[in-house]
Amino acid sequence: MKITEYIDQAKETLFSFEILPPLKGQSLHDMLAGIEPLMEFKPPFVDVTYHREEYIYKQHSGGLLQKVSTKKRPGTVGICAALMNRFHVEPVPHLLCGGFSKEETENALIDLEFIGVQNVLALRGDADKTEGRFVAEEDGHRFASELVRQIADMNKGIYLHDETETGFHTDFCIGVAGYPEKHFEAPSLNYDLKYLKQKIDAGAEYVVTQMFFDNQKYFDYVEKVRAAGIHVPIIPGLKPITTLSQIVNLPRTFFLDLPDDLMQELDGCKTNTDVKEVGIAWAIQQSKELVKAGVPSLHYYTMSKADATYRIAKEVF
Ligand code: FAD
Repeated sequence: MKITEYIDQAKETLFSFEILPPLKGQSLHDMLAGIEPLMEFKPPFVDVTYHREEYIYKQHSGGLLQKVSTKKRPGTVGICAALMNRFHVEPVPHLLCGGFSKEETENALIDLEFIGVQNVLALRGDADKTEGRFVAEEDGHRFASELVRQIADMNKGIYLHDETETGFHTDFCIGVAGYPEKHFEAPSLNYDLKYLKQKIDAGAEYVVTQMFFDNQKYFDYVEKVRAAGIHVPIIPGLKPITTLSQIVNLPRTFFLDLPDDLMQELDGCKTNTDVKEVGIAWAIQQSKELVKAGVPSLHYYTMSKADATYRIAKEVF
């Protein structure tokens, strides 16, 4: 079923979450066992991130360095199939512009359709770490809106090459990303919203937000998104802070602010355990307020570690 149908039919706020494919060489079985407790809260859908290739340097004899491309977390499509088989939830694979030609995207979507995936989250992806800014593949997409258009075209039975004779069309429900604290490359929030609107006009049916720690930022964002003429569901993304290093790394990586009240509580923390308790309490408070405001789903960034999200969900759902 489509995410938008789940939202339309729901009488109250849904519970959903995002996982990362395990690192290459780690067990899928362990990861699935790890998230199993979260099934108690009946998530209709689970997002699976996609991780583009990275470059590593291999040292050969004589000091020669070889630049090698590798994917550290492959398996997004396989995990989607495993989630459907084991938990009977809708998997939402993330699809990136980065690292994909349009042809590769078309083929990936055909695979997803064949295994029964009905929802996808269309993203541009970040710059390859060796490049300062995002560079599209030759014959790839430059922006998420272009990827949305390709998927929407396939939903109409329009494939890339005219020679493809088909009476068959896909029927993906397409989600996109939104940024309550604006995307870091956008010079202003209004500029960013102009391109969010472009993604919706291209065929996206819902938005999932970047994590935020101050609900007012989400409420203000929704107001501005509505004023920009966008009326699709906006699912808030939440992440409990669980380690000392995240206090520095989350704002740096995701270009967001931690509110002063939260920082005051975190300032007193000496260990990861202390931080985790504060992070969980904060996320519970955030979640309860968002449920009260009637948000469509609370979407947790679990990083494939279920325990903090489990404790939050137990208090909220
Ligand atoms: P876009 O919507 O294409 O926007 C990128 C930037 O370009 C913005 O600043 C926008 O304002 C601007 N822009 C857009 N269109 C135009 C245009 N036509 N002309 C000029 N400027 C334009 N990354 C991963 O690698 N894997 C994942 O699985 C993943 N999952 C994510 C899930 C969520 C919910 C979120 C919020 C982010 C996720 N990301 C993921 C990160 C995401 O790929 C990055 O934030 C990326 O930098 C932007 O992606 P986007 O789809 O928002 O890009």
